[in-house]
Amino acid sequence: MTVRDTDRHDHQVRAFGAAAQRRLRALTVAVVGVGGIGSLVVQGLAHMGAGRLIVVDPDHVEPTNLNRLAGATDVDARSETSKIEVAARLARSIDPDIAVHQLPASVLDADTWRELRCADVIVGAVDEHAPRWALNTLAVQYRRHYIDTGTLVSDESGTLDVSGHVATVTPDGPCLLCLSGYDPSQASMELDPGLTAAKRAAGYLSDAPDEPAPSVMFLNQAVAAVALGELLNIVGDWHAPRPYTLVDLGRPSLTAMHAEASPDCPACGPDSTRGLCDTAPPPCFTPPEPPPPM
Ligand SMILES: [Zn+2]
Repeated sequence: MTVRDTDRHDHQVRAFGAAAQRRLRALTVAVVGVGGIGSLVVQGLAHMGAGRLIVVDPDHVEPTNLNRLAGATDVDARSETSKIEVAARLARSIDPDIAVHQLPASVLDADTWRELRCADVIVGAVDEHAPRWALNTLAVQYRRHYIDTGTLVSDESGTLDVSGHVATVTPDGPCLLCLSGYDPSQASMELDPGLTAAKRAAGYLSDAPDEPAPSVMFLNQAVAAVALGELLNIVGDWHAPRPYTLVDLGRPSLTAMHAEASPDCPACGPDSTRGLCDTAPPPCFTPPEPPPPM
């Protein structure tokens, strides 16, 4: 016998009400990228009472993940358990009634992208520009809520910058491109390894592109916490929409920033696929064929 939902969520219902709790239980949330931030989001959603999760990640656990991957064990790192398996196991250990659908793939795979259409909310916890472009396109085309997260640990300015962001795209609000949440030219380059190699050869890119970025769990927890609050706001009408929140643990501070949709935004403006659902095709994930030799 499992714990009754009324007991499990009693203290949360006292804060946000039974109606919000029911809406959360009826929600399908896709968590794309279940590494440092994504694993914490999955853990939080299971505690909070989300009904159905879709977890998306092609990677397995590595020893260097153990400083921050919620639910991962030493055994997982040695046996190369997939990250989605760790996420599903963690969610079910908290709430046996939660449904978890696992997709061991990248969102840059057209079939995977299509599978995410059934999600009511997408939480992106990815590192690069191309998956953000793909998720933003999905959110705009199918009018979904999309919460993008990211962190930065850097000492380039001379002082250690430990910061992050949470961007929230609503069906009628500015999209992630309006919020400067990704760089389209960087996204194109990530989709085309040949272009990346050519730019590197020409000296436009660093020769050490795969140098791992610093990452710490307490920053991921702060960003995941803000993202989970934004998600609860979608079902609970807690506060006015916050398109962008900066998380700075150096000061420390949280800064909410307002933003408007750009009227000529190529991703969500009049020439975009906004609201077209299945009448528009998925975006093109493959680079154009090089011209035939003369
Ligand atoms: Zn836009």
